[in-house]
Amino acid sequence: MFPILDTQIYGHRLVYLDNAATTQKPQQVIDTLTDYYRTLNSNIHRGAHRLAAEATERYEAVRRQVQSFINARSHREIVFTRGTTESINLVASSLGKLWNDQQLTHSHIHTFTHSPEVIVSGMEHHSNIVPWQLAGATLRVIPFSDEGVLDLDAYRALFNGNTRLVACTHVSNTLGTVNPVEEITRIAHEHGVPVLIDGAQAVAHMAVDVQAIGCDFYCFSGHKMYAPMGVGVMYGREEILDTLPPYQGGGEMIKDVTFERTTYNELPFRFEAGTPSVGDVLGLGSAIDFMLNYSCSPKLGELSAQPTEECVKTGLPAIQAHEESLMRYALEKLSTVPGIRFIGTAPRKAGVISFLLGDAHPYDVGTLLDKLGIAVRTGHHCTQPIMDRYGIPGTVRASFACYTTQADIDALHDALLRIAPMLQ
Ligand code: PMP
Repeated sequence: MFPILDTQIYGHRLVYLDNAATTQKPQQVIDTLTDYYRTLNSNIHRGAHRLAAEATERYEAVRRQVQSFINARSHREIVFTRGTTESINLVASSLGKLWNDQQLTHSHIHTFTHSPEVIVSGMEHHSNIVPWQLAGATLRVIPFSDEGVLDLDAYRALFNGNTRLVACTHVSNTLGTVNPVEEITRIAHEHGVPVLIDGAQAVAHMAVDVQAIGCDFYCFSGHKMYAPMGVGVMYGREEILDTLPPYQGGGEMIKDVTFERTTYNELPFRFEAGTPSVGDVLGLGSAIDFMLNYSCSPKLGELSAQPTEECVKTGLPAIQAHEESLMRYALEKLSTVPGIRFIGTAPRKAGVISFLLGDAHPYDVGTLLDKLGIAVRTGHHCTQPIMDRYGIPGTVRASFACYTTQADIDALHDALLRIAPMLQ
């Protein structure tokens, strides 16, 4: 089902535990991509010919599929981007222009200006930090405990008259913590402040309902949810998107262009300038189909293409159940490795185990694991503030997907036992 998982690395079976960086692709996603380029490739929306019409239809069908996948109210709220990073940059750039305009108007009246403030958590990926700095915002940071749990009392105290947005990750890519995004959103809304949730590490691991969360923006990447690289989603509530200036200018996002003045297209096209990555969007649709049809077999780690009677659950709840039991198994098994120290021990975790092995540098651990066919990630995982918080240079990170098995965890455990003496 996942052809790459049959790969041998230095004569060992590939044990792929770098799923938080990117997941592998099921055959059906690969087939969708190759079929698209073999039979359908054409530019969408503009063409008068048959291929363009069909490609457009299928592209727009995926938009509706994504709408239903995250339970958005309207397909107009689904904007295709290159990934989470571009989705957040889109929102930051457009909101930044608004803030700038408001500030100019304000300074006219008051003769002084306050820099807009954005509340972020202390466990954000750099892509949910730097875009806000580029937008000219001052960041206020929600602290977290040693276990990796956000301090919501401290969060409540961060709001003031300059707070313009709360931007928080749903699941930490380094600590694995699942944050209480519903509560975070409710508190922000009590202050009249909109909320952006970075869902990059959530959408492949649990059912996400943007209406239940109540957030104003929700961003994610296709490649972390079994889809091709090069496609992602920016969900934005229609009422807010309607008020935002465009992000990029170009084809498709306009209604009328003259040299004097341009009027913009309606949602969501206003935010999709230029030719999109059509094949990748179709691949995203295929990846969503894959996840919705996933079924949890009673034997941990076995995949079955079609739901069977003994299966307790299908779709995202099944993936979540599988990964949660795998997490319990892994924490128990790995805690028997001498000298292991887990970074991030929140009660609600999804898919990620970060650790250190004695005094060994994470990079050395990762390099030795690689020689045994085990792919993990080492370093700061684009979350340098988390490393500063713990006073460490980085971690070794093992991260799961729906195809991760107990055998993969056993292989990691055995390899750590084997390499630990080499790193003394
Ligand atoms: N946010 C989080 C929590 C992530 O884990 C990542 C990817 N590591 C990103 C944002 C950025 O995603 P991408 O590189 O796909 O744009």
